[in-house]
Amino acid sequence: MKTPGSSPASPWRLLLTHVRPYRWTLVLGGVLGLAGSLAGLATPLVAKNLIDSFGRDVSLTGPVLALSALVMVGAVISALGGYVLERTAESVVLSARLRLVRRMLRLRVPDVDRLEPGDLQSRVTADTTLLRAVCTTGITNGVTAVFTLAGCVALMAAMDAVLLLVTLAVLVAIGAINLFVLPRIRKATNAAQAALGEVGATLDRSLQAFRTVKASGAEERETVAVEEAARRAWRRGLSAAGWSAAAGTSTWLAVQLAFLAVLGVGGVRVSSGALEVSSLIAFLLYLFYLMAPIAQLVQAAVQLQAGLAVIPRLREVEDLPSEPVAPAEIPAATGSGPAAVTLSGVNFRYGEDRPQALHDVSFDIPAGGMTALVGPSGAGKSTIFALLERFYEPGSGTIAVDGRDIRDLPLAGWRSTLGYVEQDSPVLSGTLRQNLVFGAPDATDDEVAEVLGRTRLEDLVRRLPEGLETAVGHRGQMLSGGERQRVAIARALLRTPRLLLLDEATSQLDAVNEMRLRDVITEVAGTTTVLVIAHRLSTVTTADRIVVLSDGRVRAVGTHRELLAQDGLYRELATTQFLANAETLPG
Ligand code: ATP
Repeated sequence: MKTPGSSPASPWRLLLTHVRPYRWTLVLGGVLGLAGSLAGLATPLVAKNLIDSFGRDVSLTGPVLALSALVMVGAVISALGGYVLERTAESVVLSARLRLVRRMLRLRVPDVDRLEPGDLQSRVTADTTLLRAVCTTGITNGVTAVFTLAGCVALMAAMDAVLLLVTLAVLVAIGAINLFVLPRIRKATNAAQAALGEVGATLDRSLQAFRTVKASGAEERETVAVEEAARRAWRRGLSAAGWSAAAGTSTWLAVQLAFLAVLGVGGVRVSSGALEVSSLIAFLLYLFYLMAPIAQLVQAAVQLQAGLAVIPRLREVEDLPSEPVAPAEIPAATGSGPAAVTLSGVNFRYGEDRPQALHDVSFDIPAGGMTALVGPSGAGKSTIFALLERFYEPGSGTIAVDGRDIRDLPLAGWRSTLGYVEQDSPVLSGTLRQNLVFGAPDATDDEVAEVLGRTRLEDLVRRLPEGLETAVGHRGQMLSGGERQRVAIARALLRTPRLLLLDEATSQLDAVNEMRLRDVITEVAGTTTVLVIAHRLSTVTTADRIVVLSDGRVRAVGTHRELLAQDGLYRELATTQFLANAETLPG
């Protein structure tokens, strides 16, 4: 998946926005680390005093205790510094994850249609992890290294300006090499993370359709697809590793060359008497001392590049528009009682490049009773549901409830008045109770019991080993199709909706389940408005009005009897497509 840097702000600034809230703990961690090293540096001095006191008639207890205390304190301070740094790094990762997660479930449906769920998961889990090293190796070690480097260079300057120039020339060369290498590390890391996202997306696709994969004998092909994505991630990871190694090695090589150059130039200067041998030796020692901070600095730059690499991937999600957050108290948006809904001249397409899914759709859904939507596959029935839920906005035309345009209502308030039962009746993993109260977490036991009665689920609850507390398995696999559908209806009913949107299952139900479903829907239609995408003859015959859709247009509206008499398409649907025997057709 492409991850364009959609934001005009520089990635550096964006990276720092993740770190900025933790700057003081970072400083604390850095200071503690420094104090720990100072204690470590002081140890030889104290040891020297101790050794000096050998042979003199002085008690060793004091100095030994002091040395031990110093070692202990140094160790504790270092450990504390390390912990504070690691903790801060973990906190940066956590806050990035929280920001993403908070954003993700509020994204708009059209945007999520485009993105792969597995890739989104990978952004929350794998990508954010790279921010960790930004705080530890990247920033803290980087800053320490800069100080050490500056100190070293200052001491070298005091020793010999010419040799310093030679050294600085090498430092500039290292800088130039890294200017070339570092962007490549960033690019390779970004590609590696995108490939990792592909691994997640491909695996997610297979696991979501686990049974279909098995039933289609597609295990091997799907495995190969995931393996290919994993290999792509590996190759890109290797490329990043290669550039990192190149950065490290070229730095090492440059310092070695600097050593030789300083030795050569220094040798000439010593023979000409311009420099003392001892100064040259000291200078060379400093040059070696310089290696550690330079290596640290390069390492820090590499880590920062890795952090910068994931910023566009995190930012892409953060920059997507989100739906408004529901206020704690959802305003009573549209009054109470069954809703009356009117669609007027609704036009809609899923994208600029998509054909028009709805053309000038107008019809009324009267308050109370049942309205059925029927039509061939692809006619636009589910699209009307999606517009009613405001998953998408119509291109033109209006949808009004009790005379008010639904766009003028607070989104959460409007949705709280709807009950939505999807065709494949998703049941989430968890217990049956958790599934039932998913849309109404405050529902009481009495309300749950009442809804169980209405949806004829009491038998099921009695049969389950732990009743309502029984786990229903991933996507409710432990329930039958009919049970899943009724659980989904019960869940929708617990929200006491003013309008129930019900997409009937297209799968065949046995006679008992079919009858139960019909009873449930008819009963619910007595207390609320029901709009049902009907696939069953038993449903359309009981509907108060039927809207026939074809190719995104309303073709006819009427009762079953009227439409049988008037509409050819309806007659054809009724005899061929509805899930019932044609001979049971009335009329
Ligand atoms: P079915 O009875 O088969 O579910 P339907 O009447 O509900 O069909 P819709 O799902 O509303 O039909 O689809 C109407 C048109 O919109 C179809 O041509 C479909 O391909 C297209 N469509 C549906 N969902 C999307 C989407 N998320 N993105 C793009 N096009 C879509």
